[in-house]
Amino acid sequence: MHIFAIANQKGGVGKTTTAVNLAAALAANGQRTLLVDLDPQGNATMGAGVDKRSLPSSVYQVLLQLATLDRARVSSPSGHFDVLPANRDLAGAEVELVDLELREARLKAALAAHRADYDFVLIDCPPSLSMLTLNGLCAAHGVIIPMQCEYYALEGLSDLVNTIKKVHANLNRELKIIGLLRVMFDPRSTLSNQVSAQLEQHFGDKVFRTLVPRNVRLAEAPSYGIPGVLFDKGAKGAQAYLAFAVELIERVKTWKEAA
Ligand code: ADP
Ligand code: MG
Repeated sequence: MHIFAIANQKGGVGKTTTAVNLAAALAANGQRTLLVDLDPQGNATMGAGVDKRSLPSSVYQVLLQLATLDRARVSSPSGHFDVLPANRDLAGAEVELVDLELREARLKAALAAHRADYDFVLIDCPPSLSMLTLNGLCAAHGVIIPMQCEYYALEGLSDLVNTIKKVHANLNRELKIIGLLRVMFDPRSTLSNQVSAQLEQHFGDKVFRTLVPRNVRLAEAPSYGIPGVLFDKGAKGAQAYLAFAVELIERVKTWKEAA
């Protein structure tokens, strides 16, 4: 089971779009996949076609050990993957976890019991470096960082990289950066191309080959509760996320061969 956190402390950079579409694309490739929504906004939950307003239990109860993962998970009605959903309840978890033992390792513990159930677990992190994100990073083997190729993207990146280093040193020796995913890419923009080239220079093969273009069909899909890759399979954005899933599966295979 490979557990990947999709993180970037900036909002609106494509974390949720990446989490939902990658989950659906991995499932379409026959991979048993769980999508964990760690954002109180519940966008990944809704995007997967699960109604966040009528959840018997959610990731909140799992983090507080009031429900098991087995009870809280649901299957995406549109996507052939499982979802550990979230809603506004989760906003309270931040405070409620503070005094609890092993508060950063709650999600990790919950997933450990289900190691045999999935090939991939994707964790959609909130736009902050909070206790919730920490739970995501603590549970994960690696981080996928979606980013837009714009000037300020690189600034925020160093904070995230430092946080990942700290978590690696103190909480989770397994954690590493799997890769940077360029999203909402505009091939006609000079700046996009410049930043993209800078990223490749700086991070080398940590930059995924797949480029996800800006594509309106990806933005429309969530309002139908259908992942973009299934909503309009032929659209450029959908094709990119399908290619990304294949790239990720290949990458994971090369680790296995190396080990
Ligand atoms: P985050 O989870 O990082 O806050 P989202 O995935 O919610 O970011 O994306 C922010 C907004 O950008 C959403 O409205 C989403 O539909 C839109 N969006 C994300 N990726 C793309 C894309 N490749 N093309 C067009 N719109 C996108
Ligand atoms: Mg989000």
